[in-house]
Amino acid sequence: MILLTRYAIIKKRYARQVAQGAESAHNSGDDSFAQKLSALIQIPTVSWTDRDKIDPALFRQFQSRLEELFPLVHGNLTRDLHGDYGIIYHWKGRDSSLKPVLFLAHYDVVPAEEKGGEAWTEEPFSGLIKEGELWGRGTLDIKTQLAFQLETAERLLGEGWQPERDIWFAFGGDEEISGREGAQKMAEVLKNRGLRFEFILDEGGVIARDQLAFLKGRPAALIGLEEKGFVTFKISASGASGHSSMPTREGTAIGRLSKGIVRLEKRLFPSRLTPVMRNMLERLVPWVSFPLGVLFANLWLTAPLIRFVFSRSPVTDSLIRTTQAVTVFKGGEQENILPGEATCLVNHRILPGDTIKSLERRHRRTLRDPGLTLEDAGNWPSNDPIAGADSEGSGFRLIQEVLEETHPEVVAVPFLVNGSTDSKYYRELSDQILRFTPLVLRPEDIASIHGVNEKVSLENLRKGLEFYTRLFRRL
Ligand SMILES: [Zn+2]
Repeated sequence: MILLTRYAIIKKRYARQVAQGAESAHNSGDDSFAQKLSALIQIPTVSWTDRDKIDPALFRQFQSRLEELFPLVHGNLTRDLHGDYGIIYHWKGRDSSLKPVLFLAHYDVVPAEEKGGEAWTEEPFSGLIKEGELWGRGTLDIKTQLAFQLETAERLLGEGWQPERDIWFAFGGDEEISGREGAQKMAEVLKNRGLRFEFILDEGGVIARDQLAFLKGRPAALIGLEEKGFVTFKISASGASGHSSMPTREGTAIGRLSKGIVRLEKRLFPSRLTPVMRNMLERLVPWVSFPLGVLFANLWLTAPLIRFVFSRSPVTDSLIRTTQAVTVFKGGEQENILPGEATCLVNHRILPGDTIKSLERRHRRTLRDPGLTLEDAGNWPSNDPIAGADSEGSGFRLIQEVLEETHPEVVAVPFLVNGSTDSKYYRELSDQILRFTPLVLRPEDIASIHGVNEKVSLENLRKGLEFYTRLFRRL
């Protein structure tokens, strides 16, 4: 009985009328926005892990292209460039007593190389518009978000509109290789100005179609409210080097390190449902079958079962635990020489609730070998997880309300972002960091991000622009 009562309560709390699609704010036949985005896709602002390979001239070219494409933005907003990559825009609102909002995006892209024999059907930097789609690296990750924001500002400025509160934009050019030169520096600049934001919107979640089978075709807007942390540990073993004809009884550095790795891999991090994931499941209750709804509404009882089901696929398993993956192993040079050292790298995505320190302590206990050293590998900035924003907060509610108008078929839920975004650097600037781009993506679209044949539909561009227009008007 209590299961059904709770089901009824949760279902009522999160049910809503499915609205009819609202009137389009802009002429939907107009593809001038797609043309502008195409121009931006054609500039190959590639981030290479080897920073020496990066061509800063391309990033400057991108910045001046923005001036040409969005003249009203550049005439009315103040723009500051920070280093080679960072661009900050400030749009003054009418009421300076209101807390400002901050929109983030990045305009660097990963290289567009062929993947495992798969080649692009169209040139990755062609910006080709063909059969209702715009092709190219950066269409989904994530020049489109930047273009949505600037185009919306451009159109609203054209109507003589001014926002109620101040709007800020901060665009980085090295997110794909850590954001150290872009986002990190810009966050510092905004912090030094004493700014605090009502909310911050960055990339990280999309409208997923055909991803969650139990939604029976209904797309889910995954709004990232929390983000996993990141750390890579380097574990090293040392041993006596010398001739391989006279090894010691203790074995080699490679053997010693291998034993440690086996112990680590045998011991998975424990699974748990974070508050954000719990809230996500509860919000799905009105939209799933009755038996599943009863399960999702009664997590106080069913959480172990849900965790068991989640743990059976690597995709869902990553949402309920800190992951560890040994990604690099090095040791030995030549077959007749005992190696003096062996090292490995273990990459972790840290679930909110765990910390870099807690991982380190746990690993030391698991390794049970004082001869193995463990340290932050330091190739990439590590960070603790970013705690969840409130799904009853103004930012989440606003996105949800706008989606009800622009994408009425969609159910909006809070989500845990698995990857790392630029927004981690802005964590002290707002209590509400939201990670979301209004693009409806199928599993094959998601696979094309950092893969081949990345492209966006013109329908997505039209609806995304409408989303932003309505969002800005409500700020
Ligand atoms: Zn991105």
